[in-house]
This record gives sequence, C-alpha cells and structure tokens, in this order.
Amino acid sequence: MKIMSINAGSSSLKFSLFNMDNEEVIASGLFERIGIEQSCYTIKYNGEKLKQEVDLPDHSVAVSILLEKLVELGIIQSLDEINGVGHRIVSGGDRYSESILVTDKVVEDIIELKDYAPLHNPAHVLGINAFREALPEVPMSVVFDTAFHQTMDPVSYLYPVPYSWYEDHKVRKYGAHGTSHRYIALTIADELKRDDLKVISCHLGNGGSITAIKDGKCVDTSMGFTPLAGIMMGTRSGDIDPSIIPFVMEKEGKNAAEVISDLNKKSGFLGISQLSSDSRDIENGIAEGNEKCKLAQDKFVRTVVDYIARYYVLLGGCDVLCFTAGIGENSKGVRAQIVEKLACLGFKLDAQANDVRGEFRKISADDSSSLIYILPTDEELMIARDTLNLINR
Ligand code: AMP
Repeated sequence: MKIMSINAGSSSLKFSLFNMDNEEVIASGLFERIGIEQSCYTIKYNGEKLKQEVDLPDHSVAVSILLEKLVELGIIQSLDEINGVGHRIVSGGDRYSESILVTDKVVEDIIELKDYAPLHNPAHVLGINAFREALPEVPMSVVFDTAFHQTMDPVSYLYPVPYSWYEDHKVRKYGAHGTSHRYIALTIADELKRDDLKVISCHLGNGGSITAIKDGKCVDTSMGFTPLAGIMMGTRSGDIDPSIIPFVMEKEGKNAAEVISDLNKKSGFLGISQLSSDSRDIENGIAEGNEKCKLAQDKFVRTVVDYIARYYVLLGGCDVLCFTAGIGENSKGVRAQIVEKLACLGFKLDAQANDVRGEFRKISADDSSSLIYILPTDEELMIARDTLNLINR
C-alpha cells in the first residue's frame, strides 16, 4: 500500500509518499511559489534530488506535474499504486476530534472554519481539490492539527471572558501541533508498553507548544485560540498581556492587525535578540557573548519550564517528559537548561545520553524522577497512518 501525505499552503505543496508495508518514505518534496513567478519543485527519491524551475500557475498544475514525475522517475509504475492521500488541515474547530475521509460536506466544513485559520484552511482546500481532480477514484482523508486537543475539558479550553464570546463566536482554546503530540503519545506508549502514562510533550520548533497527556489523551495544551499563545517561539510572542495591543497601536500608529502581525512575525527569539528567529543563530550569538541572544534563550527556557511545571501539577506528576521538533530534537544545550530548572521536581538528565541530535533515545539519568526522552516527531507518517486506517475501516 502506498499513501501520500500532503501539506498544502497558499503558495506551496509539500508531499511525502510512504510505502505503508514498512512505513518508509519512497519520495518526498516541495512545490514552491505556486501562483508566483520563479516557481519550482524539488523531489527527493532513492538518494537523489531533482530540482527544477517550472511554471506553476495553480495547485492543480503542481499536482499534475507531481503525479507525472512520480511515474516518469520510476518512483511508481502507475498512478494506480497510490492507494490514498491524506491532507494536513490546520483547523477542525470543535467539529472534528479525529481524522475523517474527505466528502463534499467535510470540504465545506473546512472552508466554513476558515475564520479560525484564515491563511491555512482555504489553502488546504486548494490542495484537496487539486487531488480530487487528478485522482478522483482515490480515497482521501483529512487530519486536523486541532483534533487531538478536543479531549480537553471546559476548564482547560474556556477563557475567563464573557461566556457569550464562547457561545456566540466559539472563542475558546483549540491548540495546534495536535498530530505531532498524538504521535509522541502513541510512540512513547508503544515504547514503554503502557497506555496509562502521564506525558508532557514539548514540541519545540520554530513554532512551539507543550501538551499535557494522560492515558493517551490531551488534558491541556499551551497554544490557544490561535498558535500565538503559549510558550515563546521563533517569531511569536506566546502569552502576553492583551492590554499591550491597544497601547502599542496608539504609540506606534498601527492598527490591530499590524500589531498582531508584529506579535506573530517579529517577536519571540527574533524580537528579543533583534538578530534571528533561528535558535542556532541564537546559540552562536551566545557563544560570541551577545547579551540579547542570552536573554532570548533564557526567556524561552523560562516559558517552557513554566508550562512543564504547570502541567506537572495538572497531571499530578509526570511519567515521561518528551522533547521533539527542531530545537527539542537537536539542541542539547536548550534541553539541559530546561531540565536543570526542573531539578526541584526531581528531573535529571544523563549528560552523555543527552549529547545527541535527532535520535529517539532516553536521556534521563537513572535517578531522575521522570523518564526524559528525545522523540523525533513524524506528522507526515501520522497522516499516512490515519489515511490507511480510514481506508481499511
Ligand atoms: P522546526 O520548526 O521543527 O523545523 O524547528 C526549527 C527550529 O529548530 C529552528 O529554531 C532551528 O534553529 C532549530 N534547530 C534545527 N536544527 C538545530 C540544531 N542542530 N541545533 C539547534 N537548533 C536547531
């Protein structure tokens, strides 16, 4: 069985084609600058990489070229080999608590939910439509970033604001990165052969979120109504006092959308360091004695530790602390700083085991109160697995 996992953006389309017999990626790649000049695509397969500039006026053309190339490059013999396509969807609002096969109604819902992910949901639909056109007989699924968080109870998902905001406009916490946190929950339960675990999952990438998981279900998560909330990130502020927004609007003569854009795109690591959103640049800056980089890193660690401590209390302890995504998987320094600040709860790293990048491995010391793992996330595989399960149902 071969399943394609798709992440369609407004001007891009990322794909991974899996052989589900061994869950290996047969080919992956990216179509970029769709609908803009200098569009191009990259396909990686069999240890090779093909990069070509080509006119990509819309998603349908991108999908046609992708399918044509898969056959032409001998990655598959014919399109009949593609048994299913799974699409990543940013927001399922409170309508979807699990992945589902695509129908006209599902597509309508994704469009209707665009208020909750204005940049993403409409773009995902472009991807879905292009594949429905090109492969009309192939079953397709949608996998929502928000679905895993639908098990939160109202105390977790409600904001202490007028209740009518929730009733009338569905203002509540939805969370994000749910597919990643679900992968972490499933993989660690499988590894430890236990499904009664209290897990704190730390997805620390350019975007970042922390999720409290009990018995495989999300209890609370750090992102909120949108991904702007929670821990500090590459360019997002994370939690701030909302009164800052009108204050800055007045001081800088900006409108609300402009200030929100600053909080999404000019804050976090980039905002404090005034240098970069990339944690590698921040680490290099610290090594060169840059004080603002050090401050940025310290603030990031503080916000992560605050959420871990909060979820430790919420869960009544923690069996496993997991680090994933770009920073979580690769930065031994950040992991060490975080765990050091959790020493009062009994968390302790094995410094030698922690000296690794991107590998699924236990990094806690034998006398640590909780197990600590690096666990590389795989949202694409999760999408492919869900699609396969739905097809086989
Ligand atoms: P992601 O959004 O998961 O791709 O993660 C991106 C973040 O991971 C960026 O801040 C990168 O600097 C960081 N990252 C990736 N590789 C490394 C590394 N080797 N050391 C430190 N940070 C890394």
